[in-house]
Amino acid sequence: MIAAAGPGVAEGGGAAGETIEAVAAAARACTVCAASLPLGPRPVFRISATARVLIIGQAPGTKVHASGIPWNDPSGDRLRDWLGIDRATFYDDSRIAIVPMGLCYPGRLARGGDAPPRPECGRLWQGRLRAAMPAIRLTLLVGSHAILYHLGKGSMEARVRGFAAHLPARFALPHPSWRTRAWAARRPWFDTEVIPALRDAFAAALSPQGNPT
Ligand code: SF4
Repeated sequence: MIAAAGPGVAEGGGAAGETIEAVAAAARACTVCAASLPLGPRPVFRISATARVLIIGQAPGTKVHASGIPWNDPSGDRLRDWLGIDRATFYDDSRIAIVPMGLCYPGRLARGGDAPPRPECGRLWQGRLRAAMPAIRLTLLVGSHAILYHLGKGSMEARVRGFAAHLPARFALPHPSWRTRAWAARRPWFDTEVIPALRDAFAAALSPQGNPT
């Protein structure tokens, strides 16, 4: 496991001649957009050479920035509930990697709410961190920023409801914020169709059978 905050334990190699340890160290040391970060750089991510599932969210909030633990908030609780797993499973980074679109807390918008992930961050780190994890079978694209970056322009709702088109490699989900409860309540197919399929895809990716995507 290699986590962004804390010592981490080096494990395995990356791709294109770059070890996973080297990629993680470079990302941890990144200060490219420091001048735009109100709390300064603190990349929060978890990667390993053995991870089967990659979760790509938005960017850390202030609680995650303070703790250095991704999804350590009510949105994380909701995501774990969707997946049907407990915290121990979720934070087993030998099986589950977590790399947000923006690795550092981006600050607040003037009108309220967290700012979007820093745009330069995805371009710098999404491909490089992913290339260091050859065992990934399933990537969860959680929220509009991850969906837009990895699937291109289009309706988030269409991507979520049309999940089958992206399997087995990817699964698009709304960001599991408190607002999503009301969104899902108006779309009963989310609970009856999407969540069961998500759990099946997740279990299949973690199973001993199958090949990396
Ligand atoms: S948000 Fe991304 S690009 Fe900016 S300093 Fe953090 S790791 Fe670097």
